[in-house]
Amino acid sequence: MTSYSLRVGCSIRDILTPALVVDLQKLDYNLKRLPESLKGININIRPHAKAHKCPSLAHFQIKHGSVGMCCQKLCEAESMVTGGIKDILLSNELVGKSKLTRLALLARNAHITVCIDNEDVASQLSHIAKDLNVELDALVEIDVGQERCGVPPGEAAVNLARHLTSLPNLHYKGIQAYQGWNQHIRKYNDRKAAVDMVVTKVKVTLEALRKHNLPCEIVTGGGTGTYIFEANSGVYTEVQPGSYVFMDADYGRNFDQKDEYVSDFRQSLFVLSTVVSVTPGQRAVLDAGLKAISLDSGVPVLADYPELTFNNGGDEHGIITPAGNFKVGDTVWLVPGHCDPTVNMYDNLIGIRNGIVECVWPISGRGPGV
Ligand code: PLP
Ligand code: MN
Repeated sequence: MTSYSLRVGCSIRDILTPALVVDLQKLDYNLKRLPESLKGININIRPHAKAHKCPSLAHFQIKHGSVGMCCQKLCEAESMVTGGIKDILLSNELVGKSKLTRLALLARNAHITVCIDNEDVASQLSHIAKDLNVELDALVEIDVGQERCGVPPGEAAVNLARHLTSLPNLHYKGIQAYQGWNQHIRKYNDRKAAVDMVVTKVKVTLEALRKHNLPCEIVTGGGTGTYIFEANSGVYTEVQPGSYVFMDADYGRNFDQKDEYVSDFRQSLFVLSTVVSVTPGQRAVLDAGLKAISLDSGVPVLADYPELTFNNGGDEHGIITPAGNFKVGDTVWLVPGHCDPTVNMYDNLIGIRNGIVECVWPISGRGPGV
């Protein structure tokens, strides 16, 4: 693979495109804003590393009061622990001896908690942990409406929690109750109502667990769109927002309480692209296509020209219509539709401030998951 080295201190004009760039002033704002928005509420913050997969950034989140990081994939967790993060929740299910062994090995250097929705996997992980002489914590994941992983609320959670308490080296600590779809419900009151339904399922489960003398030390969930509701519910002990550090065009379409666009966090992440071809009066073509920016949550927005439209131009191109006044060689700042899969395409995150490259952070946890 060819690559070029981008030196800290050089001008943003020296960045070759397409490139993943973060505006550090806006990032700083978001890092401060999250704990500020939860001031006075008794809740732990455990941001999700799936958004950035970047230990350097995780350290800033810890500095701003986070208790540790969430990871969705083993490669994210390994990169965080290698990068010096000491407390990880694997907020997902892992399967197979090899992955469970690698997860257990992380417990030599960090406090590891994992989500479980299957008795056999729990037993296997417990055996592996015992053999390696390490201890891990475990949460029962309950399905609160996403219909993805997790056992149903109530009795099924009790049965799995009871099984966990019978296992050595794997310690039952509580539940994870995360509902991803709720994050992107546009209207504030609809979003709140959807979280109320989740909270009802959590309460039913907590009551059932209490009856069986299985109290929850940890109740975790909530992303960028809803964490404020989970935090105020009185039942969650921890929230897991990830995208808040960067934001994206999709989150930009959520409304706040006054039916205005959510302004709590600033758009800090951009894909920097270059105009490579212009057909005057018709289109301008960018060097950023499907390999540079994800389209799963809608097309990117042009940060400085929101009235123009990005059209899918295939693997290597984005087509801007109408053509605007672009010339070949102009740079264009794109707001990704969805931050997480866009970040996953890049080796490095380039941090800029006042037109200067201030840092180049490896996205060491990127990849499909192994
Ligand atoms: N927690 C879990 C389990 C997730 O799957 C996700 C995102 O998919 C998040 C937290 C963070 O969500 P967001 O990036 O929307 O804040
Ligand atoms: Mn996402």
